[in-house]
This record gives sequence, C-alpha cells and structure tokens, in this order.
Amino acid sequence: MKKELVAILVCPVCKGELQLSVTEENKDEVVVGSLYCAKCDVRYPIAEAIPNLLPPEQRP
Ligand SMILES: [Zn+2]
Repeated sequence: MKKELVAILVCPVCKGELQLSVTEENKDEVVVGSLYCAKCDVRYPIAEAIPNLLPPEQRP
C-alpha cells in the first residue's frame, strides 16, 4: 500500500487514526508492515502490500 494511504485509513473498530510501521518497502509502497491503533491496542498487518483491516475477531 502507498504510505500516503495511512492518512485516510482509520481503525475499523474505533475509527481512530493508525500508526504505520514498515518492515519492508519498495520504491513507493509498504510491502510488509503493520498499522497500529493505540486506542484499541490492536495491530493490523500489511502483507504483500495489502493492509488487512479486519477487526481481530473477524480474522480467520
Ligand atoms: Zn481502534
């Protein structure tokens, strides 16, 4: 996902803002990392440049 996207993404649970942490990135995208909601203390993973914003209880 593009880094700028973090500005418009919100936590699906509380609609709060998310903190991006990058594990792996290429020229213009975050490939692996996570989005963290401090309010909910939940981390949403980013894998293969796709953020998984499912609430934890809906993950398989
Ligand atoms: Zn939240």
